[in-house]
Amino acid sequence: MSDSSTAPRIVFLEMETWEEDYLKRLCPPDWNTRYYSEEADRIDLARIADAEIVSAFIYSSLDARVLGQMPSLRMIATRSTGVDHIDLAYCREHNIVVSNVPSYGANTVAEHSFALLLSLSRKIYPARERTLHNNFSFHGLQGFDLKDKVLGVIGTGRIGQHAIRIASGFEMQVLAYDPYPDTAASQKLGFDYVDLDTLLARADVISLHCPLTPATRHLIGKPAFMKMKRGVYLINTARGGLIDTTALLWALDVGIVAGAGLDVLEEEEAVREERELLSGRFDQAKLQAVLCNHVLANDERVIITPHIAFNSREAVGRILDTTLNNIVSYLEAKPNNMVTA
Ligand code: NAD
Repeated sequence: MSDSSTAPRIVFLEMETWEEDYLKRLCPPDWNTRYYSEEADRIDLARIADAEIVSAFIYSSLDARVLGQMPSLRMIATRSTGVDHIDLAYCREHNIVVSNVPSYGANTVAEHSFALLLSLSRKIYPARERTLHNNFSFHGLQGFDLKDKVLGVIGTGRIGQHAIRIASGFEMQVLAYDPYPDTAASQKLGFDYVDLDTLLARADVISLHCPLTPATRHLIGKPAFMKMKRGVYLINTARGGLIDTTALLWALDVGIVAGAGLDVLEEEEAVREERELLSGRFDQAKLQAVLCNHVLANDERVIITPHIAFNSREAVGRILDTTLNNIVSYLEAKPNNMVTA
């Protein structure tokens, strides 16, 4: 490695203290690294204008406005699988290499889906509320078994298949929908592929594990809710935009959906930071989604977590390890996990 005066200037954004400590232990001592807790959108860009390598998570919008202020930038090592927060066309035009973390723990997200489901099925949240107030009455806290219930899994990639493995442990029956079925997995794990309408009609619990694309935006909207069983439970740890939030409120109101566990929300960045609402980037439809999220958050049949399905200590450790390897392989001119536009 080169000495620190010639070593590339590497900036890590959105760092928690333990992550900074973890990286400091692993980074070669001659690396020229700086660590910031802020996202790219919040930091004074003059402080990182000299960066040659930037590593950030999904809350940094690495768009042309931000990237344009880092004229020496050569590489972005995003600590995420998704790259929709990065202007890839800008990076291509300016020869900025982008790497990501293709997988870091399907089990981690699938386990969170079941944390949400079990919280709903066994009324864990209202039960805790009650015992906090020294009330040990069990009235109104009857739950339901997962055993023998039909789980509908939409998207049978890495996370969906892990959710199916967990469901087998609960002796649930699994039906799945995926436009690219994995027949070997269906035989090995013992689940059946069906078309989407059949899944919607037969599932007692529906869990979403497909990506958000123009084709899947509002996959679960009013037409889909109208095909579901009354009393269905909906779990979403994939992306908020898969569900039409207004339609979900309607489905809860009319009793089609009995409960929902949501780790992701439409327009969740605005809920996270309400100042975003004043940024002028929000049209009426987006504002409506934000308002609906507030209504959902106050509905006792709904459990919302703030996009933490990925956030186990082990998974974040794997994310940091892969990110460091991506940077090392780039510096050694053997790029790894590169993303192209
Ligand atoms: P993956 O690429 O391994 O699997 C996605 C699957 O979805 C594929 O099998 C694909 O064929 C399928 N698919 C595509 N279009 C579909 C459609 N219209 N209907 C049904 N299935 C469809 O991805 P993964 O690693 O399993 O991750 C799934 C999603 O989970 C990601 O796209 C991401 O949005 C989300 N995720 C969330 C968190 C979190 O913290 N909440 C963390 C990681 C990933």
